[in-house]
Amino acid sequence: MSPKTGRDHLESLRDGRALFYRGERVADVTTHPAFRQAVATAAGLFDLNADPALRDLLTFSSPETGRPVSRMWELPESRDALVHRREALERWAESHCGFLGRSPDHVASCISGMVMGIEAFDDRAAGALRDYYRHARDNDLYLTYAIINPQADRGQGAAGQAEDLVLRLVDQDAAGITVRGAKMLATSAIMANEVFVSCIQPLQAGADEPFALSFVIPMNQPGLKILSRKSYEAEAPSTFDNPLASRFDENDAVLWFEDVRVPWDRVFVAGDTGMCARQFHATPAHVYQNYQSQVRLMVKLRFLAGLGRRIAEVNGTLGFPQVRETLGQLAAEVAMVEGMVAGMEAKGSFHGRYFIPDRHLLYAAQVLTQQLYGKVIGTLRELSGGGMIMLPSGIEDFADPELRAIIGRTQRSPAVGPEERVKFFRLAWDAVGSEFASRHAQYELFYAGAPFVPKGHSFRSYDWARATGMVDGVLSGYGLDGPALKAAAE
Ligand SMILES: Cc1cc2nc3c(=O)[nH]c(=O)nc-3n(C[C@H](O)[C@H](O)[C@H](O)COP(=O)(O)OP(=O)(O)OC[C@H]3O[C@@H](n4cnc5c(N)ncnc54)[C@H](O)[C@@H]3O)c2cc1C
Repeated sequence: MSPKTGRDHLESLRDGRALFYRGERVADVTTHPAFRQAVATAAGLFDLNADPALRDLLTFSSPETGRPVSRMWELPESRDALVHRREALERWAESHCGFLGRSPDHVASCISGMVMGIEAFDDRAAGALRDYYRHARDNDLYLTYAIINPQADRGQGAAGQAEDLVLRLVDQDAAGITVRGAKMLATSAIMANEVFVSCIQPLQAGADEPFALSFVIPMNQPGLKILSRKSYEAEAPSTFDNPLASRFDENDAVLWFEDVRVPWDRVFVAGDTGMCARQFHATPAHVYQNYQSQVRLMVKLRFLAGLGRRIAEVNGTLGFPQVRETLGQLAAEVAMVEGMVAGMEAKGSFHGRYFIPDRHLLYAAQVLTQQLYGKVIGTLRELSGGGMIMLPSGIEDFADPELRAIIGRTQRSPAVGPEERVKFFRLAWDAVGSEFASRHAQYELFYAGAPFVPKGHSFRSYDWARATGMVDGVLSGYGLDGPALKAAAE
C-alpha cells in the first residue's frame, strides 16, 4: 500500500468548502492566486512521505490497515520512539524552514495526545475519540484547530459577550449537536481537511456550559464559513521578490458556524466546562501539540541563524570581532532551544504506556522563545543595516538593460554577484521585515497564548518543592539560639 501523496491532498481540497476571499467565494483553493502556492507547499509534505528514500523516516504502518501514514500519528511507547518521531517532524519542518506554523503535524499531535490520555474521557466520548483518531490517522488527514474565542471584550467571559459572537451549543438531539457563532483564527484552515473546534480558554462552571465544546468536522461541513485574512501570497509579485510569502503563507481565517450540525461520533465534549480544560491538560495533548511547535520553531531559528551568517558574509562584515560576537550570541540562542528540545526528551516520562516530553521544560521553552523570536529578528536587522532596503523595486528592473547595468554597479558584495545579492536580501527581508515576516512575529508571540499564559503554565508545573526545599533546609539549620560565630572564634 502506498502513502497519501501531494496529489491526493490537492484532490481532497476540492470539496466545495465555503471559503471567502475579497468578497468572493473561492471555487478551488488549489488554483486560486491567493492560496495555490501555499497549498502546493503543504501538499509537498505528503510527497516527502511518498519518497522511497524518506518513507521509513517519515511514515509508519497503520496498526489497523498496514498503510504507511505520517509519523505525526505515532504514539511513542519509549524515548527512542519519541526521538524517532521528532526526527520526522524535524525533516518536515526543514522543507518549509519552520514557516508553516500549523503544518499537519501540529493538530495531529494534539489529537494523538488526547488519545494517549483517553482515560480522562467518559465512555461515549472515549469511543468517539478513538474512532476519530483511527479515521484521521488512516486517511492521513490534515487537521487545523480553532480553540480560541474571538477577541471582543476580554474583560468579560464567554457568556458576557454579544449574543451569537462566541461559538455555542444551540441544540442537541439523538443524532448530535447544533452549534452557532465564531471562532478566532484557524491557521491553515484553507488547506486542511478537517477542523478540531474547542475552547482552551478558562470557562466558568455555572455560566459558560454552552461554550464548553469539543468536536471535529470537515472543512466543507454545511453551515461552516471560512473567512480568510488578506493573503500575502496574492500580494507577492514573484518568488524572486517574496520567496517566503509566495510559497509559505499558510493563512489564518475566522470561522463562522451557522447552525452547523455535528454528529455525536465527532463530539468529544458538550456542555462540561471542566472536561473542556481536562482534554488538554489531564491528557498529554497540550504538551504534545506544543512540543511539535518547539521542534518546528527550533528549525526556523536555525534557518534564521543561517540568514544571519550569510548577511555578514554578503556584507563583508564577518571578519569584524563585534560581528562574530553577535553571531556567537545568535548561535548560542538557537542552541539553547535545541538543548531544550533534547532536554524535554531526555527528561520525559510515561503517561500510562506512552512516553511524553517533560512538561515544565516545554513550558519554559515557550516562555523563553516568545521573548527570543523578536530578539533574533532584531539581531538580523542589526546585522543587515540598509542592505535589505537598498534593493531594486522588483524583478522587472532586471529586464531593462539600462537599469540592469546600474544594478550591476550598485549591488556589490565581496561574496556574491549583483543578482545573487538582490536575491539574498529579498529572502532576508521576507523573513525579517515584510508583512509576511511581521505576521510571523505576531504568530510566534501568540500561537501558544498571550505571554502570560505559558508563564502561568511554567509557574504551575515547576518543581517548586525541590527549589524551596533547599531554602527551607538552609533556614532549618540555625536560629536565634544558633552558634555565635564571633564568640566561637574568640
Ligand atoms: C498569527 C496567529 C495565528 C493563530 N492561529 C491560531 C490557530 O490556528 N488556532 C487558534 O485557535 N488560535 C490561533 N490564534 C489565536 C491565538 O491562540 C491567540 O492570539 C492567543 O491565544 C491570544 O489570544 P488573543 O489574541 O485573544 O489575545 P488576548 O488574550 O486578548 O491578549 C492580548 C493582550 O491583552 C492582555 N491581556 C488579555 N487578557 C489578559 C489577562 N487575563 N490578564 C492579563 N493580561 C491580559 C495581554 O497584554 C495580552 O498580551 C492565532 C493567533 C495569531 C496571532
